[in-house]
Amino acid sequence: MKIIKKYIIPLGMLLIFETIAIVLWLTSNNLFYLFNFSYIGFFITLGFFLLIVNYKHARRITQLFVGIYMFVYLGLICNENMQIEGFWYYLFTGVFEAATIHYAVAKIFGPLLFGRGWCGYACWTAMVLDFLPYKTPQYPRKEIGFIRYITFSISFIFVASLFILNVGKFEKIMFWSFLIGNILYYIIGIILAFIFKDNRAFCKYVCPITVFLKPMSYFSLLRIKCDKNKCASCGKCEKICPMNVEVTNNPKNRVNGTECILCMECVKNCPKNALSIYQ
Ligand code: SF4
Ligand code: SF4
Ligand code: SF4
Repeated sequence: MKIIKKYIIPLGMLLIFETIAIVLWLTSNNLFYLFNFSYIGFFITLGFFLLIVNYKHARRITQLFVGIYMFVYLGLICNENMQIEGFWYYLFTGVFEAATIHYAVAKIFGPLLFGRGWCGYACWTAMVLDFLPYKTPQYPRKEIGFIRYITFSISFIFVASLFILNVGKFEKIMFWSFLIGNILYYIIGIILAFIFKDNRAFCKYVCPITVFLKPMSYFSLLRIKCDKNKCASCGKCEKICPMNVEVTNNPKNRVNGTECILCMECVKNCPKNALSIYQ
């Protein structure tokens, strides 16, 4: 029973992604969905499995395999704009295609189950930012999170304008906006990381996708919880958390609770084994 509990998360993830893969494949008669979601599900399962066996680079392996696949293969080779502009574009055209499915699974409904797991294990922007030297924030969080609503609005207005003005050549514009948008994200993300001495500054203040991710992940089933009986109140977990989560406080409304990317750094570093995702 204990062994089943231990592996329930990777097995559950595999089951969910395989179900999505098969359902989309059969309903759309498109083999791509079977390959796509099986591939992502496999690496997410592998990442969680490696975490369980305490492999140091578990999360990074999943992040690199999924992130590079989505950015290079889906984005650059298959010309799917998986950025937020692509989501608006497919939403406006009423097409239930890759970008809308991706947003539904990873960023809108998925977070009800796995919170901001996308941000910890799959995002190709963070995949690069996580190579920078400031893995643990050096300063307290700034009160500038409102910027995300500005970038969110800009992306919406940009795509809405294309439709209102009937610009044409949408596919081409979407490809270039994906490429230029990503380059901008990387440049801004790297600059902010060095200014704030915090690899995840872009995620905390600028990323428009958090407008979807944060409210949905509030209800996340998977959460880090603290066993108060074991906790020695040493503060190590909160110091090491890249997202400034008030880890030792269990209620959903804990400070920065919707910022948790399930990276497990707090769990790995707790000297009393007081933190877990299974409680
Ligand atoms: S906050 Fe945005 S940039 Fe950061 S990991 Fe999440 S989706 Fe990626
Ligand atoms: S690291 Fe562990 S013992 Fe220390 S405050 Fe966090 S939960 Fe408690
Ligand atoms: S250190 Fe813990 S609380 Fe902070 S983001 Fe990672 S898993 Fe979440």
